[in-house]
Amino acid sequence: MSKTIPYKIYLSEEEMPTTWYNLRADMKNKPAPLLNPQTLKPMSEKELEAVFCAELVKQELDNDTREFEIPREILDFYKMYRPAPLVRAYCLEEALKTPAKIYYKFEGNNTSGSHKLNSAIAQAYYAKNQGLKGVTTETGAGQWGTALSMACAFLGLDCKVYMVKISYEQKPFRREVMRTYGASVTPSPSRETEVGRRILDAHPGTNGSLGCAISEAVEKAVGTEGYRYVLGSVLNQVLLHQSVIGTETKIAMDKYGIHPDVIIGCAGGGSNLGGLIAPFMGEKLRGEADYRFVAVEPASCPSLTRGRFAYDFCDTGMVCPLAKMYTLGSDFIPSPNHAGGLRYHGMSPVLSQLYHDGYMEAVSYPQTDVFEAAERFARTEGILPAPESSHAIKAALDEAERCRETGEEKTILFGLTGTGYFDMYAYESFHDGKMTDFVPTDEDIEKSLSKLPKVEG
Ligand SMILES: *Cc1c(COP(=O)(O)O)cnc(C)c1O
Repeated sequence: MSKTIPYKIYLSEEEMPTTWYNLRADMKNKPAPLLNPQTLKPMSEKELEAVFCAELVKQELDNDTREFEIPREILDFYKMYRPAPLVRAYCLEEALKTPAKIYYKFEGNNTSGSHKLNSAIAQAYYAKNQGLKGVTTETGAGQWGTALSMACAFLGLDCKVYMVKISYEQKPFRREVMRTYGASVTPSPSRETEVGRRILDAHPGTNGSLGCAISEAVEKAVGTEGYRYVLGSVLNQVLLHQSVIGTETKIAMDKYGIHPDVIIGCAGGGSNLGGLIAPFMGEKLRGEADYRFVAVEPASCPSLTRGRFAYDFCDTGMVCPLAKMYTLGSDFIPSPNHAGGLRYHGMSPVLSQLYHDGYMEAVSYPQTDVFEAAERFARTEGILPAPESSHAIKAALDEAERCRETGEEKTILFGLTGTGYFDMYAYESFHDGKMTDFVPTDEDIEKSLSKLPKVEG
C-alpha cells in the first residue's frame, strides 16, 4: 500500500480489461426506454434496426447483462493506442500547493485526439460484421467524425459525415484529417437531405447545430441501402463501450491501493463521464463503496444544471426517437461565440437518471474560466487540453484549491478526454481578450422547453 506512486501508471497488455461493464445492470431505476416519435411507444428492436446495427441495438436495449465480452478484433485495435495512462499530477499539485492528490486519465494519445475512438471502433466493427457498406454520422467540433473515419478506414467501411456548418468552416484541418482517412464530409444543414432543405428554408444563413446534423445523418442512413447511422455519445451503447476508460482506471488504482474521493468529468452527451465513472458508480449502487461524482458543463449549454428531466427529441429535425433526459429543448442552440464544445441540448439517459436519483452532482462554468484553467494546466502538466476536457480541469482545480484552504488530503480523479490542437481559434480569442461569456437567460431556456413533446412519464 505504501508503494510510491509513479507519475504515470500504465497497465500491461495482459492487465487491460477484456469486457465492457454495463452500469445499467446495477441501476435500480433503469434509464427510460427510447420512444417512437410517432406512436410514443417504446422503440422495438425491429424499429431500431432500421436505423442502427443489429448488435448495437441489442446492447442499447440490454439493461441486465453486467459484462459484455470485447471482441478480439476490437481488443487488438485498442492495443494500438491503449492502455491510456493514468497520470498523477505531481507538478500541478506542487504549483497549487494543495494537500490534495490529483490524478487524471488521459484519453488524448491517439490521432483523433479524444476518447471517442473507443466507441467508434466498436460501432464500425459491428457494422462491418453485419455486412454493411458504410455508416453515416454527424460531428460538431470534429472529434467524433475523425475517430469514426479512422475506425472505418481500418475496417474498410464507407463513412459519411455531416459536419456542423460553422465547425466545417472554422476547422478546415479537422475536415482534412477525416478526408485523409477516406470519409466524405458535408457541411450541415445541406441540400442533400429533406430535413436539411427544410431547416435551410426556415433558417437561411444558419450556422447549423448538432441536433440538425443528426437529423440529416439519420435520414441519409435510413434512405440508403447497406448503410446505418452511428452516434458518438448519449446512447447507452456508447457509454457501454466507454466503460473501458473507467475499468482501466479502476484496475490501475486498485493496483496501488488508491481510492478516489471525488471523480470529475466534463459532460456533453455524457459518454466519457459515464465511461469513467461506470465501475465506481457500480460499487456505489451496490453499496460496496462511496464516491462523489461531478459532471461539469458549460454555462452556455447547461442541460443538467438548468434543463428539465423529460422526454425530448434527440435531434432538431424530430426524426429520431425520443429519450428521457435532462434537456434544454431540441431547438436550443448555444450562442455562436461559445467555443468550448459540449454543445448538445440533451444528456445521456443513464446519467440523467443517476443525477435525478441523487447519485451525481453537476456544476457549470463560463468559458473564460475554463480557458484560464486550461492554460494553467498546460503550463504545469505540459499537455494542451481540449476545451471540453478543460471543464473537468476547472472543477478539479477548484476542488484542489478548496483542499488547500481546509487542509484536506482528498484524492481527486478527473477525465482528461483529449487534446486541443484544433481549437487554436478559441485559444486565440481567449489570449486576445476577445472571448466573452454567454449565459442563456431563464426566458431563453423556457422558450425552447415550451416546445418539448407532450409525453407522460
Ligand atoms: C466529444 C468530446 C467530449 C464530450 O462528449 P461526451 O460524450 O460528453 O464525453 C469531451 N471531450 C472531448 C475531447 C470530446 O471530443
